[in-house]
Amino acid sequence: MCGIVAYLGHREAKPILLEGLKRLEYRGYDSAGIATVNGKLEVCRTVGRVSVLEDTLRKLPGFHGSIGLAHTRWATHGEVSERNAHPHRDDKRGIALIHNGTIENYAALKQYLREKGHVFTSETDTEVLAMLISELYDGDLEAAVQNALREVRGAYAIAVLCEKEQGVLVVARKGSPLIVGVGDREFVVASDASAIVAHTTQVFELDDYQVAKLSRDAKGETTFRTSTLDNVPVTPKIRQLEFELEQIELGSHETFMMKEICEQPRCLRMTLQGRVSEREGRIVLGGIAEHARELIRARQFVLTGQGTAYHAAMLGEYFLEDLAKVSAKTEYASELRYRNPVVVDNTVVIAVSQSGETADTLAALRELKERGALTLGVVNVVGSSISRETDAGVYLRVGPEIGVASTKAFTGQVMVLAMVSLYIARRRFMSMDTAGEMLGELSRVPELMERILEQSNHIRKVCEKYVDRENWLFLGRGYNYPVALEGALKLKEISYIHAEGMPAAEMKHGPIALINDGMPAVFVANKGPQYDKVMLNIEQVRSRGGRVIAVATEGDQEIKSYADDVFYVPPISDPLSPLLTVVPLQLLACHAAVLRGHDVDKPRNLAKSVTVE
Ligand code: GLU
Repeated sequence: MCGIVAYLGHREAKPILLEGLKRLEYRGYDSAGIATVNGKLEVCRTVGRVSVLEDTLRKLPGFHGSIGLAHTRWATHGEVSERNAHPHRDDKRGIALIHNGTIENYAALKQYLREKGHVFTSETDTEVLAMLISELYDGDLEAAVQNALREVRGAYAIAVLCEKEQGVLVVARKGSPLIVGVGDREFVVASDASAIVAHTTQVFELDDYQVAKLSRDAKGETTFRTSTLDNVPVTPKIRQLEFELEQIELGSHETFMMKEICEQPRCLRMTLQGRVSEREGRIVLGGIAEHARELIRARQFVLTGQGTAYHAAMLGEYFLEDLAKVSAKTEYASELRYRNPVVVDNTVVIAVSQSGETADTLAALRELKERGALTLGVVNVVGSSISRETDAGVYLRVGPEIGVASTKAFTGQVMVLAMVSLYIARRRFMSMDTAGEMLGELSRVPELMERILEQSNHIRKVCEKYVDRENWLFLGRGYNYPVALEGALKLKEISYIHAEGMPAAEMKHGPIALINDGMPAVFVANKGPQYDKVMLNIEQVRSRGGRVIAVATEGDQEIKSYADDVFYVPPISDPLSPLLTVVPLQLLACHAAVLRGHDVDKPRNLAKSVTVE
């Protein structure tokens, strides 16, 4: 959550910072701000989208110079207002700071700083950190940041500059993501690579409790130095960014969410590429190969995540039990981390996250790792915290996901979890033939998805009929129960319609009381082992006046006499059906949000990559 971008180099900072902010806006969009130094420090902050900041800056002179920082906020401490927006600063010393995260002991620090005579103008935890750095500043910004951060509890990615050291930018992190792009006589620092890739593909990440001092000398030459908070030098590993600018551009699509729904076939081909051999019934997963024996012998798998990733994790649980015949359970990371969980011998924890930075998932992972579990990451972002802290893992390879409502990352996670489960299953009980058959189906998922995407217009028309209804149910059984949950989550997060997902059979134990005339109930009713039971549940809704929208298998004509509207998906074996049945539900949510006039890519109160608890 929250986007930070900073620049030090030989070019004008302002346009680079604004362009970076626009790319990062999906991480937070309640307010935005910028600081540049050109002789003196100048700061501008505005409430609302980055475009408001841009408009304001257009009318202001100044803001020149080739050092600066900028921020797009997702408020945690204090209302959304200009004075709470970042950068925060101390004018006495000309220090400005942007921050992603939360400072847990900010109240005690604030009290201490007040006693020292500092006057606060915001309610944020961030301003306290700016003042603390200023309090400890005696001519060396890097040392002041190190000393201040030693006093801080919480999570942060920060960038700091000082009027008195105009060729120095200091950045640091603990818990929140931060990437340093190293260009030709310039640095671009950002919360994620999307703000960097247009300028350089050489990057390094800091580990927790590390600081980087980026410097530019009088001749314009740049150098950097990285250290721990105790000033012990560390050497970061420079790596090459693996994605292209066009992956983060809208192209011909109106929203990133629609673009990402539509590019799922292409992205999932990347997920599969080089990993699956249908003929030999073999899966090659380099990221877990070293731990194959531990995985085969594992007694229990614990899958964890939040939101959409949690739903993918549930499917991972079903795959592991059903295909690999091993005990598995799924837990919300936010619950798991505080629950004092019992970790039996040979436990494997699988952390599922798009960004690889989800604060709760990371914390749960650390907790279980300390208790002796082997840790696997199923994440999208290369080099992210979860990918670095796990013993092994498999990347999704679906490319950057910008839409706040996750779509291609979900199907990527499900596909990877299916592959991991088949990898283990094949080494335990599954025959080469059965594995080969399933892998064949898995490989055909992208092409089958293409057929579903062709129904987008039909889905929009159906959506038009129900879009005014404020309460929806999403129901499914077995492998399609997590899909029902995901369908409901998609609808509520971007269209603000109240939607509940549940096991279809659970409905009659209470929620059936909600059904009134015309209430839409979306059933995942593909041909699977529980098809007949789902039909019974559909009858129960219909007889109470509910309207039924069914996701059914191509060729199923009978369903038309039960459902008011039908979205068809191609036939596939039951375990892999979620990869298809979820697609019409993603489209449904996206169309509903557009029809209701909402900003699909920036839903209210939400932001991408939840790096706070
Ligand atoms: N805690 C800070 C604030 O409320 C930073 C929030 C963010 O990460 O955007 O301003």
